[in-house]
Amino acid sequence: MSVTARFAELYGSGPDGVWAAPGRVNLIGEYTDFNDGFVMPLALPHTTVAAVSRRTDGVLRVHSADVPGGVMALGADDLVPLTETGWPAYPAGVVWALREAGHTVPGADIHLTSTVPTGAGLSSSAALEVVTALALNDLYELGLTGPELAVLAQRAENEFVGVPCGIMDQMASACCTDGHALYLDTRDLTQRQVPFDLEAVGLQLLVVDTRVKHALGDGAYAERRAGCEAGARALGVRTLREVEYAHLPAALARLTDEEEKIRRYVRHVVSDNHRVERVIALLDTDDVGAVGPVLTEGHTSLRDDLRVSCPELDLVVSSSLAAGALGARMTGGGFGGSAVVLTESADADTVTKAILESFTASEHTAPRVFPAVPSRGAHRVE
Ligand code: ADP
Ligand code: MG
Repeated sequence: MSVTARFAELYGSGPDGVWAAPGRVNLIGEYTDFNDGFVMPLALPHTTVAAVSRRTDGVLRVHSADVPGGVMALGADDLVPLTETGWPAYPAGVVWALREAGHTVPGADIHLTSTVPTGAGLSSSAALEVVTALALNDLYELGLTGPELAVLAQRAENEFVGVPCGIMDQMASACCTDGHALYLDTRDLTQRQVPFDLEAVGLQLLVVDTRVKHALGDGAYAERRAGCEAGARALGVRTLREVEYAHLPAALARLTDEEEKIRRYVRHVVSDNHRVERVIALLDTDDVGAVGPVLTEGHTSLRDDLRVSCPELDLVVSSSLAAGALGARMTGGGFGGSAVVLTESADADTVTKAILESFTASEHTAPRVFPAVPSRGAHRVE
């Protein structure tokens, strides 16, 4: 059944409009966005689609085709951060953030359905927030830009849902364009759309969703974040972004009194910011295949210095490289979730088969492998 037909079935008449926002995968620049650093995500063809109608009575009704349970109703005036449990906290958080910012959002009926895998590190949460924000922006003629919507969506996730994520996911979902990766400076949100047409150069970027999520990951993000802040304080800078790569050895030498792990965190963040700049330089000179080894270096840094990888992610990297991939790394928060693999298109089947076989041999759940086709960001569908 179409999303509009289902909306009508749930709410009694058709929606005022339909919007879509994509999930994303990050090519390079991991755990850098809360350090004011660089990231380079691309939007996936997988989207969260929302049919939405205005309401003027202060009621917010939400329904998801992907979660068991019926329509949930909330009072727009009664929204309190950290009190909603379950998925409605995401759209409710967006309504809350818009209203906190002084915008008039007197309610809505929302029905949504998504093809973004949830909890796979592909940002189904940002897709859900951004699609809600864009729909309300259009319906209530708020006049907000993509980056403004992304910032409000991040505030919803940080303060209303209570997840301390950076700005990358929402910016990617709101601002990516077809055929491009988004080079984003998270310090001031300046961005550049970098052409990323892999097919034209005979390459493919594969996403490998390991389908695992290790409990170890809970709290690890906040711990890394606190460690990076401690590193910045010890170096006398506001954020690790301020540490230039050329000065990394000197910075590490100054951290001898700090815990060893702080030095590792600093080394990861500063070197990963530099890797984003190296990837940009390679793409700008059409040396796309040379991006592969930089991705693999990024994985080593995440595995050994930040220590956020896991056996399944390491296995994707080792098995794909052994089968001839140009480079591979975990992407997103780690401890499970997804990896990206850059390969010649001609080798994509061999590489995929090698990954699947290595998972079978290690008795891991079979991963899901699909090509990352750089797709458009959030938009109105009808
Ligand atoms: P990720 O963003 O990596 O997919 P998160 O844990 O940040 O993982 O967000 C996943 C959560 O977002 C889900 O547990 C659910 O609460 C919410 N969510 C995402 N997509 C949907 C959907 N289609 N319907 C309802 N809730 C969703
Ligand atoms: Mg998320």
